[in-house]
This record gives sequence, C-alpha cells and structure tokens, in this order.
Amino acid sequence: MTAQFSRADFERVMVPAYAPQAFLPVRGQGSRVWDQEGRDYIDFGGGIAVTSLGHAHPALIAALTEQANKLWHVSNIYTNEPALRLADHLVRSTFAERVFFANSGAEANEAALKLARRVAHDRFGEDKHEIISFKGSFHGRTLFTVSVGGQAKYSSGFGPRPAGISHASFNDLDSVAKLISKKTCAVMVEPVIGEGGIIPGTPEFIQGLRELTRANDALLVFDEVQSGVGRTGKLYAYQQYGIAPDILTTAKGLGGGIPIGAMLTTAELAKHFSVGVHGTTFGGNPLACAVGARVLEIIDTPEVLGGVTVRAERIARGIAAIAERYPAFEELRYSGLWFGWQLKSEHAGRAKDVMAAATREGLMVLLAGPDVIRMAPSLIISDAEIDEGLARLERAVASVFPV
Ligand SMILES: *Cc1c(COP(=O)(O)O)cnc(C)c1O
Repeated sequence: MTAQFSRADFERVMVPAYAPQAFLPVRGQGSRVWDQEGRDYIDFGGGIAVTSLGHAHPALIAALTEQANKLWHVSNIYTNEPALRLADHLVRSTFAERVFFANSGAEANEAALKLARRVAHDRFGEDKHEIISFKGSFHGRTLFTVSVGGQAKYSSGFGPRPAGISHASFNDLDSVAKLISKKTCAVMVEPVIGEGGIIPGTPEFIQGLRELTRANDALLVFDEVQSGVGRTGKLYAYQQYGIAPDILTTAKGLGGGIPIGAMLTTAELAKHFSVGVHGTTFGGNPLACAVGARVLEIIDTPEVLGGVTVRAERIARGIAAIAERYPAFEELRYSGLWFGWQLKSEHAGRAKDVMAAATREGLMVLLAGPDVIRMAPSLIISDAEIDEGLARLERAVASVFPV
C-alpha cells in the first residue's frame, strides 16, 4: 500500500520552523517506533521527554478510550472528574496545595510568571516586578517565556520584550546575589537545565536560591517541565534538594504524549488567581487529565521511580564503553533517564551528524544545542530495548568518528 503523504510533502504544506528527520514514523510500541517503510527505530528520545511510558501503553490507551466514550470537553464553566483526580494526586505527592491546568509547558510557565507578578503587585505594588532567570535556560516559546529564557536566539527579532527581566549565571549564587533586590518578584530556574545541555543544579546553588528569594520576599519558581514526572528518578527533581519552591510547572512527561501542562502552588499564593484573573479554554480538559492521572498513578510508585535509576545506570555504563572505544566525547552528564553527552571541542557542531547517523542506524536521539547528544527515553524502557539502542548508538558513533 502506498502512503498518501510522505516526508517530501513537509516543505510543501508546513511552516519551515522544523527540519524533520528523513523518515516518517507511523506506529509505536514500547520503546520501538516504525516508519512508513516498516523499518524499526529504538526510541531514546522519548518525543523530547514526553512519552514517559513509551508508546501504546495499554493502561493509557484504556484511560484515553474510556474517557473518549464518556466526555471530551465541557469548558472551565464546569469542573470535571479527571481534572480533580489528577490535581488531587499532584497535591498529595508534592509541596503544592493548588493546581492550575494548561496545555503546554510554555503556558504553565506563562501562568507561573503572571502569578508571581500578580502576587508581588497585590502585596507590594507596581515596583516589585523584576524577574531573574538564567543564561542557557529554556522556558518555552511565548514572548514572555522566551524573554525569561536565557537564550537570545529564541527571543531576538520579535520586537520589544516584556521589561524587568535579567539573567544570572546558573550554579553561581553570587551572580544572583548581585541582581536580586526588594524589586525582585521571582527567580525562575530549571533545577536541572534541559535544553541547555542536562546540567544539574548543585545542592548549594538550589538551596541558596531558596534563602536569597526568601530574604527578598521573592518567589522561587521551578520549571520542571522537562525534569518532572520521574525523569530524574524522583517524581519531581526538587525533591532531591530538601527544599520546596513556591511555584512549580510541569508538562512534557505528565501526559505521556497527550498535550497537558500544570502550574502547582500553595493555597496562599493561589488566592491571587481569583475568578477571572487568568484562564484557558482547554486547560483541565477531561481527555488530557484522564491520561495524565493514569500516567501519574503508574509513575508515582517505588517500582517505576526506582527502576529509573537502575535503567539509567545500564545506559550510562553502555555509553561509557562506547566513549572508551570512540573518544570523541568530553563527558556524559545525566540525571535519571536524562542524558547529555557532550562532544569534545574539536568536534563542535557535530551533534547533528551523530543524530543523522543514529537515524540511519535505526535509533532516535535528541540534541541539546550543537555539541550535545541528548537522550530521554521511556521510564520503563526494557533491558532488551536499551541494549539494542546502545548497539545502534555505537554503530552511529563509529560511522561519524571512525577510529
Ligand atoms: C520544553 C520545555 C518548555 C516548553 O514546553 P512546551 O510544551 O514546548 O511549551 C519549558 N520549559 C522547559 C524546561 C522545557 O524543557
């Protein structure tokens, strides 16, 4: 059977904001994906840390189809059971007491930034509106979130940016101390930097941010859009630091592939989003929340969270062995099932060549900038899938950097 559409149609009908790989995936099962020609790929990318339980998980298919047969959408003029179930789980398992649902990471962050500004406005007045974030950070693609994000390539060329935003250096508390003041309303940080290369915040840094924000009546906002929902081996990455933020955002892995985002906060702060202050048409949609609730029920267990560390070590050992045979890499950074494999400086810019070679060998990986291969596989990837993926990764690396 000839498919009606192929990769070649992309340039004809799509805005060229992406450069999709050469093959076109049509089906997935566990950590394997098949393309139009029936060729299989091992999925070490996880749809950018989204398909946290792999593809076609029977429990998620059941959750989605059960809800699909009941109720799709009612709007926020009503509440619904799946949204309440998911919010209840989120507040039981975290520091948070209240949840606001959105449809993406950027939207969850938009809500977080607006809440932080609103709280400061209500409590202290107009002057307290400054936001500090970090160079190299990523918070989404709306105008507010690219402005708070610390990568100029995403925010320049779109006209005036929202004002009152400055960028400190990650893992450098002094650089924050220099910028923070009584005018600061919030510090937004990824506890582990994702897009910027999988760089874990040090405990001193993260704990120091908690003290600095408290001393300046500023809110601490953790963007856990990528690090959350078990990715690091904890349900949320902040849980390994012994402190809690005031606001946390979560998205990507929360839906297992269904678009969803959420902003979590305390009851006291949540009051500032009183009726009509913020909103969304689709946030809290029953279909998305039914899947999200099931995703969380499965992942928030000792078996799955504990398994993340075991699987991560298996992959890290395999990558270390490849790096020994093909010494093109500087270091492997990882936090749970989240890897940033940094090329040596003499191979700067060649991560995309490794990605293309991986595609040829039947392996899906990601990039984090031009010099880092990123991987964020399913949290329940099997040993057999891991070993097959590592074998394909070795062949890909060998083809780009032959010894
Ligand atoms: C992906 C990501 C976002 C943006 O999420 P979208 O769903 O693409 O809007 C924000 N913050 C972090 C840390 C991310 O990794």
